[in-house]
Amino acid sequence: MSETFDVIIVGGGGSGLATAVSAVENGLSVLVLEKEAHLGGTTGIAVGSISANGTSIQKKAGITDNPDDQDEDIGKFSPAGLEERNNAELRRFFTEHNGETLEWLQSMGLVFHGPNPEPPNRVNRMHNVVPNARAYIITLQTRFMKLGGTIKLNARVTELQRDGSRISGVVISGEAGKQSFNAKRGVVLAGGDFSSSPEMIAKYKGEEYASIEGINPHANGDGQNLAIEAGAKMVNMDVTYGPEFRFIPQEGKTFIQLIPVSGPIAWLMGKVMPLIPDKMINAYIKRLLVSWQHPEDALFADGAILINQNGERFCNENESPEREIKLGKQPQKISYVLMDKRLTDKYSEWPHFISTAPQIAYAYTKDYLSIRPDIACAGKSLDAVCDTRKIPVDTLRKTIADYNSYVAGENKDAFGRNGDTNPIQEGEMVLLGPAKAYFTMTEGGALVNTSLAVLDEDETPIPGLFAVGQNGLGGQIIWGHGLHIGWAMTSGRVLGKLLAKA
Ligand SMILES: Cc1cc2nc3c(=O)[nH]c(=O)nc-3n(C[C@H](O)[C@H](O)[C@H](O)COP(=O)(O)OP(=O)(O)OC[C@H]3O[C@@H](n4cnc5c(N)ncnc54)[C@H](O)[C@@H]3O)c2cc1C
Repeated sequence: MSETFDVIIVGGGGSGLATAVSAVENGLSVLVLEKEAHLGGTTGIAVGSISANGTSIQKKAGITDNPDDQDEDIGKFSPAGLEERNNAELRRFFTEHNGETLEWLQSMGLVFHGPNPEPPNRVNRMHNVVPNARAYIITLQTRFMKLGGTIKLNARVTELQRDGSRISGVVISGEAGKQSFNAKRGVVLAGGDFSSSPEMIAKYKGEEYASIEGINPHANGDGQNLAIEAGAKMVNMDVTYGPEFRFIPQEGKTFIQLIPVSGPIAWLMGKVMPLIPDKMINAYIKRLLVSWQHPEDALFADGAILINQNGERFCNENESPEREIKLGKQPQKISYVLMDKRLTDKYSEWPHFISTAPQIAYAYTKDYLSIRPDIACAGKSLDAVCDTRKIPVDTLRKTIADYNSYVAGENKDAFGRNGDTNPIQEGEMVLLGPAKAYFTMTEGGALVNTSLAVLDEDETPIPGLFAVGQNGLGGQIIWGHGLHIGWAMTSGRVLGKLLAKA
């Protein structure tokens, strides 16, 4: 006999848990099914910003803001040609409701720092959760369980069940075999993105991108595939955040991850946060920066070269996404940025930073060397840095000689760089890396209406099926920080209430 719940949620990341809490708060019985052994998904490894308008934090800072302004500003971030593809109705719906979402999250005890600037937003509207995005997961999970919700881990949903035209439940498959569950009011797809599915990347983005990994290795596109099987109209499946050139994450636990996200110390941090000087908070944000932001392209335009583990160049460093595509095909898919003394000196002070969250914090060479010694090494000679990173120095010396003879105008650059004026000088050197090409997120999902109902090819709701977060991005183009978690939380909060009214 299958168990029955009002609502079944496929995925225990940010959007799934937000839906779950909102639905139980409104009196529904809810089951969350998570395929991994722990909750969190991409939300759990994110930085944690939410950009929202009309919040009490903005008001306290004397900032007046509104949904129309935020909607218009979001449009200024998107890469050329994408804004025309935006689902205008859904994005306006999002900006209408995200302020209330921030109040809802604060009412559960989450603490935000900000609002921080992020040009070209006309006002400060980036709110950074303290200490990091894991706090969303712990807070939502705790509240959900307190209110009597049910969570099953290691429970991968592999099928949706139908009763006539209505989606009426799900099937999970695991070591114990198959098990089914019934949903009286709806099944909610909250399975995240497909940045780590080479098959889906090849199909929707192009074969040449298939060797590039996603940052979250578990983002496998199950939610999108379940939607497709149910007959959903899929939108923006080719739109991706990245591929981007990023340093590999630190093994084991970083300092940031060691900060407790629950319990008395986290509570205390929340209370004292307003008293901590901005300078200290910015130093903390700098840690996040050095962990997750990608290095500025200016570094390459200025003469840094990219080498693989064999000490060879393999691309025109100034050409993206070709750079990332070729990087995905190098040994172990890794590369290093080589900087001589001229470059390390230059990238040691404003306005030449290696990475940034504009107007909040800037990270320079010394920040990388002190905060991330695993991905930044300095040496008195080329031999020294090669020794540290196990790169054959003779090959690298030949690579530099070839590059310098191109700079001297003696040959054409084999990889099509042009206009470089600075040769690489042996002496004190810095190697940044290993770095890989990663997809941060994929933006494709089911088309949904403002009730978060999944629509079929005729744009008619599929009865009983809903989607939130990345599964239900619905064709919105939301570039810029803080919009994806903002949507995950907002779509979940709103849907939980709507399901209770249904
Ligand atoms: C490094 C990084 C930093 C980021 N920082 C920010 C930020 O600061 N602000 C911001 O707005 N956005 C940020 N993002 C993006 C943002 O984190 C995500 O877009 C958002 O959290 C996605 O939420 P979600 O609920 O849709 O998916 P997820 O959080 O990925 O949750 C999906 C869950 O569903 C589970 N699942 C999948 N398939 C199944 C199945 N078949 N059965 C059961 N469970 C399943 C997954 O295991 C996962 O737990 C960042 C992304 C990255 C990679």
